[in-house]
Order: sequence, then C-alpha cells, then structure tokens
Amino acid sequence: MSPRFQVHATDGLARTGTLTLAHGEVQTPAFMPVGTAATVKAMTPEAVRETGADILLGNTYHLMLRPGAERIGKLGGLHQFMNWQRPILTDSGGFQVMSLAGLRKISEQGVTFQSHVDGSRHELTPERSMEIQHLLDADITMAFDECTPFPATEEVAAASMRLSMRWAARSKNAFKERAGYGLFGIVQGSIYSALRSESVAALTAIDFHGYAVGGLAVGEGQEMMFATLDATVPQLPAAAPRYLMGVGKPDDIVGAVQRGIDMFDCVIPTRSGRNAQAFTRHGTVNLRNARHAEDRRPLDAACRCPACRNYGRAYLHHLSKTGEILGAMLLTWHNLTYYQDLMAELRHAIAHGTLNGFAIEFRRLQAMGDVPAAPDA
Ligand SMILES: [Zn+2]
Repeated sequence: MSPRFQVHATDGLARTGTLTLAHGEVQTPAFMPVGTAATVKAMTPEAVRETGADILLGNTYHLMLRPGAERIGKLGGLHQFMNWQRPILTDSGGFQVMSLAGLRKISEQGVTFQSHVDGSRHELTPERSMEIQHLLDADITMAFDECTPFPATEEVAAASMRLSMRWAARSKNAFKERAGYGLFGIVQGSIYSALRSESVAALTAIDFHGYAVGGLAVGEGQEMMFATLDATVPQLPAAAPRYLMGVGKPDDIVGAVQRGIDMFDCVIPTRSGRNAQAFTRHGTVNLRNARHAEDRRPLDAACRCPACRNYGRAYLHHLSKTGEILGAMLLTWHNLTYYQDLMAELRHAIAHGTLNGFAIEFRRLQAMGDVPAAPDA
C-alpha cells in the first residue's frame, strides 16, 4: 500500500492534512529539520521530537560516504541507527554532489565524483540512489535528479530538466514498493514556466506518491520563487503531497503554504542557531549584539522552548560570544521550536479558514522587529 495522504481542510490554495508513512503520521504543512549526517546538529533526537517535528530529512550524499549505506543497512536502517523511530525523508544525493563533491562528471548514466572527505571516487546513478535510500530505510525516497544551476539559460535548463525526467523514470523503475514507503518526483525547469509545465507532465505520467518542486531557493530571490510556484503548483495533482525543497526563511514558508505547498526542509533554523541568530515572531535577533549583554529578559517570552523558559538574553549572549556548545544547543532548540510552532499555527489557520488574516498579522509582527529592552532593564 502506498503512503496515504488525507487533506482535512483547504483555505485558498493552502491545504492541511495527514501523511501516513511506515514510521508514523506527518501533519502538514510540515517542516522537516535537516539531519545531515544522521544527526540534527546540536540536538538529541528526543529534543527534536519535543519541538514537534514529525519527520526528519537525511542526506544520501553524506551518509553514503560516512558511515556508508551498506553499514547503516546492516545496523537496521537509519531510524534504528540514530534512534529516530518516526518518518524520515532522504534526498537523492544529487544536490550535494553538485555543491560539495570534487571532479564531477555528469553523463546519461549518472554522476561520478570525488568525495569531499577523502578524495575517493564514487558513482551515483538513479539505480544506486534508490538502492542507498532503500538501505537507509527512508519512508520517503527522492528521485535522483540534477539540480539545475542558477542562473541558467532556457536551453541549458531544458536539457538539464529533460535529463532529470529520464532519471525520474529510471528512479521509479528501480524503487522497491513497500507498504507505507513513498517515492517523490522532483519538478525542475528553473524559472521557465513552460519547462516547469513540461516537467510536471513528465512526472505525473510516470506517477509518483508525491511531488517536490526543486531548483528553487538557489539565488533567484523570493519574488521569482513565488512566481514559479504560482505557475507550477496548481498543475500538480491535488491528491498528492507537495514538497518545496530547501526552503526557507519563515516568510518564505508562509508564502509557499499560501501557494499550496505541504512540506519543507531547510538548514536555516539549525545553522542560524549555531551562529547566534534566533528567529522570533518579531523577526530575527542576533544574540551576539552587545545590546543583549545585560538584558535579563527571555529571548521570546511567549516561546515554550528551554532557551526561553530557563535563561535570559544576557546568558545566551555570553554563550554565543564565548562560542560555548550550549549556546548552539539552546538556540537550535529555540529555532526548531519556533519553526514547528509556526507550522502548527499555519495548520490551525488553514483548518479554520483564517490563513489570510494569519499571514497579514505574521508579516506585521515580523516587520515590527525585536522589541528593545527598557533602559533600566
Ligand atoms: Zn524559545
């Protein structure tokens, strides 16, 4: 049986629903924290779950190099290996081969490359990517694709997208169907709406369990990203989940949910947490800023996370300035909590038909900026 996706309510183009996978349910719209090398950096899996995450993303490229897909398979799969007994989505490895590996060579067959870790030679093909993601035991496997560089001419984007569509068909052929496990296809075509349409048609003809929009958040800017979603998302089958890869900042997510996207992943909340940057309902706050040095207030008085409940800004500032590991842990915990609470608020607003009003208020509070401390604080 395929994974089941049930839409509970719609509000404009936005939907809220439940995606049922082999390792549990995912409430959508959903944000997937990135667990690059079988760990969400600076967090225990137990803490990640406490933030409200239903599903994690794992990176095929990193895991195939270290500790190796066969080894993780032998140890019982990624859930067992990292103690996350809930759904996991793995990417296909294609994106990181392009961004991290050395000496890449792309052919019709696949990509050969040199590991950024030890220089060893590897090959990724659609068939090998499916095999690796099967060994990892991913609840959702992503089709192997080439992430088209940006900017690209229409000619380059077309050739790249058509190669990805041929690889998508090979991915489907190599994917082993199992109850509760899904395979998602990835729409490419850069910023060209005709190419996006051609890609949607090719993927829906192959027939996937879900559809991702790839090749965005690569430098095109929010306006162009939203325009591409406007042209692409309405063409995707309404009954299947839609995943916007690698996005994004909180206001990117709100705008994409309004355009009908159900799933997201991004390193921004975790990476920012390690760089002293916190997301709050009043926009981003840099804890390294000297104005926090004697501020006893919590980072966000309304937040339920341990960083906000148990510590003041002055302490978080000190941890960030001294590069203490605890600073990265607490701010990552806060940021992931903020993202999960935002997703819960979006789901609630869609279910109650109040998404537009929610988005307006969200943007008003973000634009206000961080509330400065009282002079005698
Ligand atoms: Zn917090």
